[in-house]
Amino acid sequence: MFVSVAIDGPAGAGKSTVAKIVADRLGYLYVDTGAMYRALTWKVLQEGLPFTEEEEIVRLAHDTDIELKYDDRQQLRVFCDGRDVTREIRQHQVSQNVSQVARIPGVRRRMVELQRQLARTRSVVMDGRDIGSYVLPDARHKFFLTASLDERVRRRCQQLDEQNIPFDPEAIKKEIKERDEMDRSRAVAPLVKAPDARLIDTTCQTIDQVVEEIITVIRGE
Ligand code: C5P
Repeated sequence: MFVSVAIDGPAGAGKSTVAKIVADRLGYLYVDTGAMYRALTWKVLQEGLPFTEEEEIVRLAHDTDIELKYDDRQQLRVFCDGRDVTREIRQHQVSQNVSQVARIPGVRRRMVELQRQLARTRSVVMDGRDIGSYVLPDARHKFFLTASLDERVRRRCQQLDEQNIPFDPEAIKKEIKERDEMDRSRAVAPLVKAPDARLIDTTCQTIDQVVEEIITVIRGE
């Protein structure tokens, strides 16, 4: 029987860093669902499709091959129709528009189908916005990570800095705020804490502390 761990929360709460370490420690597959929505958004931009063309975007969601693979250094890489777009999907233009793509019901149906398929074949740690509440409502363990807006902005800037991606801190703050608002207010599967998810405020916690808390809960120690 496969085990699913759901880790949800707003942008920059530390989900992906924590989820990846937890998955490695447990020997589970880490699934970054945000990367899937980002890859599709990148493709929409590549095709020059206006974000108002919802039907076309849904068609693209079905026609595009999105894959998450590990390289030999165990780093997660994101492929869109065979092309490595790991770096491209973190660009500001993608971050700014991804919530518009992710709010389209047909897009979500397609992504959720792929995500559920993955969870049927492996034990997974899946991070996103709607994993505990919608994608995997029966997940064995559910966590909801939050942090103050300023801390989330600081972390995102640090991440971009480490990847040598240029950024403007004020623009990052605006983008994160707007993205959270759009993710919280969409009609289908919004960003919400599942009633049975454990809330973890990571503002004053290190990555190690958050990981330990999650692992302790999972192992029932
Ligand atoms: O996790 P990340 O910040 O990369 O996610 C990018 C965007 O993808 C989110 O702001 C949200 O619009 C969308 N998303 C979603 N549902 C998920 C994961 C991400 O709608 N499960």
